[in-house]
Amino acid sequence: MNVIEKIAAKAVSRVSVMAGWTQSRFAERTELAHILCYHTIIPDESARAGWSAPHAVTVSAFEQQMSMLAELRCVRRLDRVADQLANGLFNDGPSVSITFDDGLADNVMLALPILQRYGLAATFFLTTGIMDRGDLFPNDKIRILRDAHQRGRLKMSLHPVCERLLTQPGYYKATSLNEYREQLDELWAAAHVRVDPSAIEACRVMRWDEARLLRDAGMEVGAHTVNHVILSRESNDVRQFEIVESIRRVRAEMRRDRVPFAYPNGQPTDFGEFDMGVLADMKIPYAVTTDAGPNHSESNPLALRRHCIGIHHDISSLWTALAE
Ligand SMILES: [Zn+2]
Repeated sequence: MNVIEKIAAKAVSRVSVMAGWTQSRFAERTELAHILCYHTIIPDESARAGWSAPHAVTVSAFEQQMSMLAELRCVRRLDRVADQLANGLFNDGPSVSITFDDGLADNVMLALPILQRYGLAATFFLTTGIMDRGDLFPNDKIRILRDAHQRGRLKMSLHPVCERLLTQPGYYKATSLNEYREQLDELWAAAHVRVDPSAIEACRVMRWDEARLLRDAGMEVGAHTVNHVILSRESNDVRQFEIVESIRRVRAEMRRDRVPFAYPNGQPTDFGEFDMGVLADMKIPYAVTTDAGPNHSESNPLALRRHCIGIHHDISSLWTALAE
C-alpha cells in the first residue's frame, strides 16, 4: 500500500466509523420523525453549471440517498406520519419522509422513476400560479440571468432593480415580489434568448398532467402558494390569497380534499400566526417549514421541521443531519 492508498484507506475508515455512529444514534431516537426537503434533481453533468442552484441534488446523489433509505426501511409517506404525530400514535420510529418543494418538472422526469425503483412514496408541494402560466420561478430566472451576465452574454443596460437582483444574491429574498417582478419579467423577455438553453429546460415547472402522474403513482400532492411569495413580506390580503387559492387549485386539479402546505423559503421569519390561522381555517392537516430539525409528538402540525438537502450533501452529511 503506497502513501496515497494509506491516506485514502484511513479517510474511508473514518467515514464508515462516523456513518456507523450517526446511524446508531439515528436508530436510537425512535420518537423522532425526520422530513427531508428536496427541490430540484439535476443531471450529473449540470452540477457545475453557473446557473445550478445550491439546493439542487444530482441524479446519482439522489439515487444513492434513496437506495440507502430503502435499505433501512424507514421511509414513510408524510401524511401518515403527520396523522400519527398529531394523534399521539407515533411509536414505531424513527421515520424519514421525503418531500419536494416548488413543483419542478424534473421531480416527475428524474426523481419519480428513482422513487418507484425503490418503492418509496414522497410528497410534492406545487406552486400553482407558476404552473398555470408555464413560467419559470423568479429565483431561477435571476440565477440564469446572473450566470449569463457574469459571462458577458447579456450585452444590455440593466434597470437599477435588475442590476441589484443580478449582483446582490440576497436581495430578492429580502424584498416583496411586487418590487421587482415587472422589471425582472421585462429583462427575461428581452434576454432569455441569450441565456444557456439547457438552464431553461432544467428549471421547467411541471404541468398539471405531470402532477397527476405523481398522484397516480401513489405520491401525495400539496400546495406551496400561487407565486412563491415569502408570506411575511406580503400584506395580509396577499398572504390569504396565496394560501387559499393555491390549496383550492391543488384540490381541484388533483380531485383530493386533503392537501398539505409548505411555506415558501420556510424559515421561522418567513411565515407567522396569520398564515397558520388561514391554514387552520381551511382544515389543512399539516404544513412544513425549512426550520432544520426532527419532529416528535409535541411538534406543531402546522410548523413541521425539515432537513433541506442540497448539492453539498453526501451520504455522510445526510447521516449527520438525521442524527442531530
Ligand atoms: Zn419553494
